Amino acid sequence: MKRIALLLACALALAACTSLATRPTDGTRAQIGVLETTDLHSNVMSYDYYKLADDDSLGLERAATLIRQARKEFANTLLFDAGDTIQGTALADYQALVKRPSCDQELAIYKAMDTLHYDAGTIGNHEFNYGLPFLSQVTGTPFDATGIPVEHCKGPDYPLVLANVFSAKTGRPLYTPWKILDRKIQTRTPDGSMREATIRIGVIGFAPPPILEWDKRNLEGKVTVMGVVDAAKKYVPQVRAAGADIVIAIVHGGINTAPYTTGMENADWYLAQVPGIDAMLTGHSHQVFPDPHNQKSPYAHMRDVDNQRGFVNGVPTVMGDFFGKAIGVIDLNLRYADGHWQVDRDATHSEVRLVEPPGAKPVAPDMQIAQIVAPEHAATIAYVQTPIGNSEVPMTTYFAAAGDTSALTLVNAAQREYVERYIKSNLPQFADVPVLSAAAPFKAGFGGPNDYTDVPAGPLAINNAADLYLYPNTLTAVKIDGAGVKAWLEKSANWFNRIDPAKKEPQELINRHFPTYNFDVIQSGVTYVIDVTKATGERIEDLRYRGEPINPDQPFIVVTNNYRASGGGGFPGLNGGNIVLSAPDANRDVLIDYVRAARKITRPMFADMRNWRFAKVKTAGPVIFTSAAGKLDIARGDGIDDVALVKDNGDGTAVYAVDLSR
Ligand code: MN
Ligand code: MG
Repeated sequence: MKRIALLLACALALAACTSLATRPTDGTRAQIGVLETTDLHSNVMSYDYYKLADDDSLGLERAATLIRQARKEFANTLLFDAGDTIQGTALADYQALVKRPSCDQELAIYKAMDTLHYDAGTIGNHEFNYGLPFLSQVTGTPFDATGIPVEHCKGPDYPLVLANVFSAKTGRPLYTPWKILDRKIQTRTPDGSMREATIRIGVIGFAPPPILEWDKRNLEGKVTVMGVVDAAKKYVPQVRAAGADIVIAIVHGGINTAPYTTGMENADWYLAQVPGIDAMLTGHSHQVFPDPHNQKSPYAHMRDVDNQRGFVNGVPTVMGDFFGKAIGVIDLNLRYADGHWQVDRDATHSEVRLVEPPGAKPVAPDMQIAQIVAPEHAATIAYVQTPIGNSEVPMTTYFAAAGDTSALTLVNAAQREYVERYIKSNLPQFADVPVLSAAAPFKAGFGGPNDYTDVPAGPLAINNAADLYLYPNTLTAVKIDGAGVKAWLEKSANWFNRIDPAKKEPQELINRHFPTYNFDVIQSGVTYVIDVTKATGERIEDLRYRGEPINPDQPFIVVTNNYRASGGGGFPGLNGGNIVLSAPDANRDVLIDYVRAARKITRPMFADMRNWRFAKVKTAGPVIFTSAAGKLDIARGDGIDDVALVKDNGDGTAVYAVDLSR
């Protein structure tokens, strides 16, 4: 009877009904476990498709177990995803480039996520890698944008919010900028009893503005972006006005105190200061935040950042690593006062929970996920085993920092050959301009001891090509001069710390915060020396092309990818203005075609190996770097004889020393 009366009241006055039925009294408290995955990069399974081997340290199938555990621990939970979701494994490439799901089929990663019932998610930069039509299809979101078919296809069950990317055609946001989630939660009243109450959670999403450079080929003329803070200032007041009790920003971006600009990639430090944001779920930087026991954390000494309890400018914040290696958890404590829910900051903290904590076993996988993506997983494994050729030479990145280019030389040879052929038939005006090629070690230990390219000598299959070329970039060539080549290499050389030859203590060779995908090595007849005792910008010496010193005004064509050519990584002079070829082909496919045509990759093809060296200098103390353990034989096999083992760390990594005097 009571229920019927209440329903009647509800029908008469909806607002009154809400407050009568479930609005809490002042002093009521609530605890919500706000859970985050970020940068899953299509790692559904704990599996490495490049090595064709299990990798128990990552994968949503294991992060799912952490999510289920957290749901038991907190009376209330919410689950969000911060983007870079659909790209990053061979599974993702297989589904986007080889065998697309039909309009009524759901992408494997989203199927897996739907088993976990996410509350909302946002869009990362890598979501745009396969183009807008694909993104529209797999996210089930029709885009009213130029040249995009309007389709209503199967997307994830949860809503996607994105406040700073707009259709150039209509000026309207591509996705819903924000959304209010009405949730029932368990609360504790001032007298200590448990009571159900309603809460209105506002969620708003952001992508990094440089997507317009990074995915220019997919986005130019089709979308516009707004600065993260600018979009927040526009939309957060709307979320508040619509009745949100608390607002959670899901931002595919990291934390950086450099001055704010509208194009800022990692704007969270400023976003936190926009009034009305109660918590931030962050990503993109592939980091752990907070990381209380890590003095080397980039957030350890950042101003107004609490790396112990997870606050940025006073706002509870978390970043849950990447590849499904972890989940982020904000233990969000709320108090009802003055007629609305407020965050109790003293009782709130964040933490990151790892799938494989140091020194412990990985958590068990969630069996449901393996089952639901079994067909796509099996099809991907079969696809990546497609043979393409054979190599006499092993190609690895373990010693890329010490001058080993084994994993770059083949990529550069394939890229250069493609462009030389193209110029011959299509760009005769450049027939006399030398073609150089740049490639970087995309996988060089950032993600731990398994995160290296490792292609053994022997048969080559597609998984090996994907190991050599991780990203779905497209081949792009730029025309620059000799000074530009030097500036390009100077920027790459920022991977190294400045070494003081007089210092007796061990010195770290590598700047760990420099992404290895920005360590471009330019080959195809170019040789140079890097002097790490010099300041950045003054390190490239003895720069030669085919043995002759390079003149600053000498013209060159350099083959690279769309990311770099249109400004990715901020290399001097590369802003999209000097592109001479934007090929329709992916760099990786160019590599695959090259191997298929050659059939056998032989040692003489690697004559260009070791085309750069360190300047000879005697150091008083050791110069050290970390790589995977037990790989010294590989260094020797590639002619890297100036590297010695210092110590095995016992966790799959080892410290090596490089003798700069040799
Ligand atoms: Mn990412
Ligand atoms: Mg990203």
